[in-house]
Amino acid sequence: MRRNRRVKIVATLGPASNNEKTIRALFEAGADVFRINMSHATPEALRQAHATIRKIETDFSRPIGILIDLQGPKLRIGKFESGAIRITEGDILSFVRRESVGGLGRVHLPHPEIFQAVQPGHALLLDDGKLRLRIVEASDVRIDAEVLTSGTLASRKGISLPDTVIPLAAMTDKDRADLEDALNVGVDWVGLSFVQRAKDIAEARKLIRGRAAIMAKIEKPSALTELKEIIELADGIMVARGDLGVEMPVEKVPGLQKQITRAARNAGKPVVVATQMLESMILSPAPTRAEVSDVATAVFDGADAVMLSAESAVGKYPVEAVATMDRVAIEVERDPLYERIIHAQRIDPEATGADAISAAARTVTETLNLAAIICYTASGATSIRAARERPPQPIIALTPIPGTGRKLAIVWGLHCVLTSDPKDLDDMVAKACRIAYQEGFALPGQRVIISAGVPLGTPGATNMLRIAFVGEETPDAQ
Ligand code: PGA
Ligand code: MN
Repeated sequence: MRRNRRVKIVATLGPASNNEKTIRALFEAGADVFRINMSHATPEALRQAHATIRKIETDFSRPIGILIDLQGPKLRIGKFESGAIRITEGDILSFVRRESVGGLGRVHLPHPEIFQAVQPGHALLLDDGKLRLRIVEASDVRIDAEVLTSGTLASRKGISLPDTVIPLAAMTDKDRADLEDALNVGVDWVGLSFVQRAKDIAEARKLIRGRAAIMAKIEKPSALTELKEIIELADGIMVARGDLGVEMPVEKVPGLQKQITRAARNAGKPVVVATQMLESMILSPAPTRAEVSDVATAVFDGADAVMLSAESAVGKYPVEAVATMDRVAIEVERDPLYERIIHAQRIDPEATGADAISAAARTVTETLNLAAIICYTASGATSIRAARERPPQPIIALTPIPGTGRKLAIVWGLHCVLTSDPKDLDDMVAKACRIAYQEGFALPGQRVIISAGVPLGTPGATNMLRIAFVGEETPDAQ
């Protein structure tokens, strides 16, 4: 089974979709990776989703990725005696550290780290940015802020401090427990929410110890100042437009999406564009024109994947939402301008064997009009570099390691097939040609290019390219 597009689709599972029938339908409609959001999912729901996905994977003989998304250090205010207070423009609101119940003009803030970190002039946002304040004075025990927008503030609402770097651990106790659970169940990607510094990735890596790949969610302004370092340390990047649009003026989000996508593509790190892509499909079977255009923009930008959140987790039309993304992506990739737009930003190979081989494979493929690029890969690194070239021909990644195939499910253009390591060079060619034929990428008489490391089966040693004919005998070869 092959997809007719290069960009991948991530679908979040939730009450509307976490059952075998729907997950199967989502996969058939085009979902390549399933996301489980630990802000909402129980460990039991995770276990159930995992078991179902692995079953479907076996049925279709195609690796499917699982991404768990950790809630991260989401900050909240304390409680009010009356449940909520009214705040009015021009008022001064005091946030106090001491354990207490808030009242008129006074809010309990149960996060001591904030008091040392904020400074006068910093913005303070409440309730997903609906209420805006500016800090006028801050001490170790109290923060005074001027209210800029009037409204009602209820107990336990979220608080954001977009200008402040808060010395919070990247992961809460809940995150650590969820992570341990998820790694025991077996997941392929771990999403880290509210990453602030490159150091946050390093800390997570110590806990994960290679058991899953790390996706840094870019949703804090402080992450943008260290974007390059974060991209370097992470395995993948998510443009988390939901919280990013709260922490930053929403009109900055489109430009940031382009900037982050380019930086990630340039570094060869898979990048996912997320949140509100088909928001109206939560309730409606058809998308708005603006939403279709939004998905198209991400595809034209060369993002590795586009993502559905509430649309597939709690919406009325999860399968239709995936099918819509699939159709939009296929059409955009067929557009006569697509190739030119995607290559408008030149990406040069780095001075490594893998990049030199990937660039050469792309050139040879174009010059000789070959049917496909086939990469033998153990860790997945070589095929990610091949995908970084964004070649017009299909890329098939062959790996003996199931975890590699699943991790690569999120990467642009990679069609992953599990296969044992070839015995020798002849076997390497025969296997590659046979799989290209069987999976529908090449016909007898067409040629493909194969990259591998010799001696065979040595990770990190991609050092050869071989052009091969898909022969008449290929279909029957064993
Ligand atoms: P969330 O992350 O769905 O976990 O909030 C995505 C986003 O903020 O866009
Ligand atoms: Mn978020």
